[in-house]
Amino acid sequence: MSISSHEIIITNIQSGDTISYPIPIIKGVIKNNAKTLCQSDKICLKTTTNTSYFKVTNNNFTILIELGIGENNIDLHYCCSAHPFVINYFPRSTQFTVLPLYIICEGHDGNFQSPNTEVNTTESALKRITLCSKLLQSVIAEKLYEENHGRKTFQLENNCTVFKSRLNYLKARKMNQNELWTAIGEEIVNSNLEYERIKFLGFLSCTNYRGENYHENLDYDDVLKITEAYVALGGGGLALFGTACLYAWPETLSQVIQRFEDRTIIDRTKFMDDSCYKGTLGACFSTTLGSVLHELCHTFDLGHTEVGIMGRGFDDIYKDFLCEERLDQSNDLECQKLKEKSGYGSLGKFVRERRKQKGIVNNIFLTKSCVTILAYHRWLNSFQLSDKVVKFDPLTKLVSSTAGLRVIELRDEENGMVLLHWIFDGRILKYSFKLPEEDLQKYGCKYVVFVEDNHGNILKHVNM
Ligand SMILES: [Zn+2]
Ligand SMILES: [Zn+2]
Repeated sequence: MSISSHEIIITNIQSGDTISYPIPIIKGVIKNNAKTLCQSDKICLKTTTNTSYFKVTNNNFTILIELGIGENNIDLHYCCSAHPFVINYFPRSTQFTVLPLYIICEGHDGNFQSPNTEVNTTESALKRITLCSKLLQSVIAEKLYEENHGRKTFQLENNCTVFKSRLNYLKARKMNQNELWTAIGEEIVNSNLEYERIKFLGFLSCTNYRGENYHENLDYDDVLKITEAYVALGGGGLALFGTACLYAWPETLSQVIQRFEDRTIIDRTKFMDDSCYKGTLGACFSTTLGSVLHELCHTFDLGHTEVGIMGRGFDDIYKDFLCEERLDQSNDLECQKLKEKSGYGSLGKFVRERRKQKGIVNNIFLTKSCVTILAYHRWLNSFQLSDKVVKFDPLTKLVSSTAGLRVIELRDEENGMVLLHWIFDGRILKYSFKLPEEDLQKYGCKYVVFVEDNHGNILKHVNM
């Protein structure tokens, strides 16, 4: 028997695993036999229908593949070695789903703003938004997997669909973010879309960046001011976004990695640069995709945290898709300053600590209470409908649920910042918990008690 020169090891998925979303992020390493002299800078992935190549950097690789429903036989080839692999894909059956919408306002042609090197039709927008919604499924699954909750994620109701709004596009361009969110939300509620079981990920086609008003001294807030129908806002059943940076998003899976790596400098006199001051197309894709993840997570009832995806840590979502560290240190510093300016306190210190602990640079994580909320959330599980209820008695401060409590958060009423949390994710259920008086006193009287139980029931009590 001959000994293979290289061992191809998948580190995050086992052959034979079953997942509920179509695009797994497959990570792995190449282990070389001591006597091996040959090597390669790429790994080849073969399926019955497709052959694609991915980079190998310092013996690490990351592979993206779109699976068909059912069993997927994959062959990995590296240099002179091969590794067969099986992943099963079965969408989870559930009534609670997410539907991406491409919202075309009245009078608008549906073409999003883009350089003429990009296709910017409605059809292209649908492809880009569908693909990136699937990538967000993958990111959430990885985050839950990293925290030992298995690869739970949301299910898509359908690919991105056109929603024709009765709101005139010129009127939309005069509205602020809250007005847009409210107007579109009302239209959805009054449409035949089943808003009680579907969360909507909406993108407005008519966003208009007025580059002629750009000059070098503008900071990020000023850039937003020269962008009409700009919005990035999520909560309740709707996360709504502008499309000024949709041109930076890929249309096909094979473009994803290349788009994240694109270091082309954005011409800010023509197109919106939403890249956390990094200025490249790749960073623009990363920041805007990360912000969609952040807002989508608000619709899954997550609050704000000082760090991570629910802070300003979502800019670096590209790190989940690339196998090498491509961060430009000087730009990173600039970005860090911005984050500190944004009022999230001792973020810099925490991130440095976290980097030290993990030995890597990664802001793409959810804090423990956020992960726990998702792990027991209705949109990420196929729970039977529950007749159990969560209760909070403001007099005794007792939280209870006969289904068993999973997570309690105390949030700042003003900005949704998570101040304190209690997690009960063990096997033995906890049915009631008294909020410690001394903790409540510390935060004065204006807070929200957020509770989620083992059946995904949620309670939000505003303490006056
Ligand atoms: Zn070899
Ligand atoms: Zn937010």
